[in-house]
Amino acid sequence: MDYDAVVIGAGLGGLSSAAVLAKNGYKTLILENTGQVGGCCSSYDYDGYRFDIGASIVELDWVIDGLFNKVGKKTEDYIDFIPIDPIYGFFTADGRRFSYPVSIDGTREVIAQFSEEDARTWDHFSEVGSEAINFAFGKVMSESMGTMKDLIKVAIANPKLIKYFKYMILNFESVLCKFFKNDTVRASMSLQSYFVGLPPSLCPGYVAFLAYSEHEGIYYPRGGMSGIPEGIAAAYRDFGGEIRFNSRVDEVLSDGKRVRGVRLADGTEIASNIVVSNINAKTLYLDLVGEEKLPAWAKRAIKSYNVSIPAPMIMLGLDSKPDLDAHHSFCYATLDEMNRIWFEDYASNRVPDGGFMLISWPTHADPSLAPEGHHCLNMVSFAPYHLAEGDWDNYREKYLDTMLGLLEKNFNLNLRDSIQVAKVNTPRDFERMLLHPNGAVYGLQSDITCSAAFRPSARSRVLKGLYLTGASTHLGGGVAPTIGSGVVASDFICKDFA
Ligand SMILES: Cc1cc2nc3c(=O)[nH]c(=O)nc-3n(C[C@H](O)[C@H](O)[C@H](O)COP(=O)(O)OP(=O)(O)OC[C@H]3O[C@@H](n4cnc5c(N)ncnc54)[C@H](O)[C@@H]3O)c2cc1C
Repeated sequence: MDYDAVVIGAGLGGLSSAAVLAKNGYKTLILENTGQVGGCCSSYDYDGYRFDIGASIVELDWVIDGLFNKVGKKTEDYIDFIPIDPIYGFFTADGRRFSYPVSIDGTREVIAQFSEEDARTWDHFSEVGSEAINFAFGKVMSESMGTMKDLIKVAIANPKLIKYFKYMILNFESVLCKFFKNDTVRASMSLQSYFVGLPPSLCPGYVAFLAYSEHEGIYYPRGGMSGIPEGIAAAYRDFGGEIRFNSRVDEVLSDGKRVRGVRLADGTEIASNIVVSNINAKTLYLDLVGEEKLPAWAKRAIKSYNVSIPAPMIMLGLDSKPDLDAHHSFCYATLDEMNRIWFEDYASNRVPDGGFMLISWPTHADPSLAPEGHHCLNMVSFAPYHLAEGDWDNYREKYLDTMLGLLEKNFNLNLRDSIQVAKVNTPRDFERMLLHPNGAVYGLQSDITCSAAFRPSARSRVLKGLYLTGASTHLGGGVAPTIGSGVVASDFICKDFA
């Protein structure tokens, strides 16, 4: 064998599993298609500005600490996190602005401006959220839920999970509406469903508690989001781990029962009895393993998943300070409007000219990302992959204009006058850059029918020696969940190949 383990993709899931394997003495090689680590959680330099490709913030940072602890290291020796406060600024369609600080008390005071009743409920929501995140859902982020047996085992070991199980079945909208009555307050918390890539009516209920968990702290790594994968890669290399860039894997080699290694696009074969995939699970099984090699049940199962919606990203370099209040600003829509956009606009392949958008302002935390006095902004929203109006390559300029117009018309925010650099990464660009099918932002769609044991398992049931990490597996997309997924996969490997 050339290597004990080969990892396809240097996203957060692949890097995390590789770090644990290398620490445990496995001779490990990561094969990455691009020229850098991090996938959706990375940064790149453009015309003097440093932009993030995707992720713009980290929460549930203890999952990252858990990974570094597991390999006997300290996070702070590898990543310099800057705490972010306030958490969000909000723009309402009727011209109001407000922001939520990290402080629970401070947030209660802001909510009280809209509803005294919801301000009182905020305390109750925070207590429930704290228990749900710290003793139920948060505790199991690095544990496998790939099968019903795993799920039952995890539930028995974490009795609080049973108490909160109903939030895995209820939808986000009903959980939020059970706690909060005021439309402004509800809308201000709706972005959590957006973070999962689903409308409030399809998103699992437990996601609502992220509106609490952020009050335990959110962070931005100094130097850009690539600081996280680069930190994990450095720890991996400390154990002798290797990364080969510009190396696309085209095939997972097997004898039909066990993996035997991988074949690269240039024809090179690398032999290994362990292959860890950090790529979209549909691409893995249908293309790299090969549809023709799958048993009928596996073919049906993998085809039944929808890939997640894409999120075009606009990157702006500005020559002056933007009129914003926080690292993240959410130009929001009501829950009904978010549902309508999903079921009417996206379903008809239309880019909505109203709706919601997240603006991230990384130079608020780290001015070194832009020339002195200048600033970087990222604007993210969702959009369909197929466009009624043609192809994304031709729609790029129109998209930029539509989104800037949306900010001006609906939220009274003018950015145009200070734009020095503008770049749009369309869903087609994400597909070309990271080989994400349809530019999918979070691997597979994360609705209730595609969560936990219903998501592709971290230990493949089709081929022995094949393991899955990243956004397509339990717990889905996000910096912390994908790092947790890497730990789950490597734990399986260490057990199976002890
Ligand atoms: C626009 C956007 C905004 C986001 N915002 C946030 C946020 O603020 N906070 C948060 O927590 N999360 C956020 N996320 C989600 C988070 O960034 C991702 O869920 C996470 O980084 C995905 O990690 P992954 O392990 O699935 O790997 P990926 O990031 O998907 O990386 C996979 C890697 O595999 C490589 N690859 C693919 N195919 C091959 C092949 N055949 N051979 C070799 N290499 C291959 C790719 O080049 C890539 O580097 C955001 C994502 C996006 C896209």
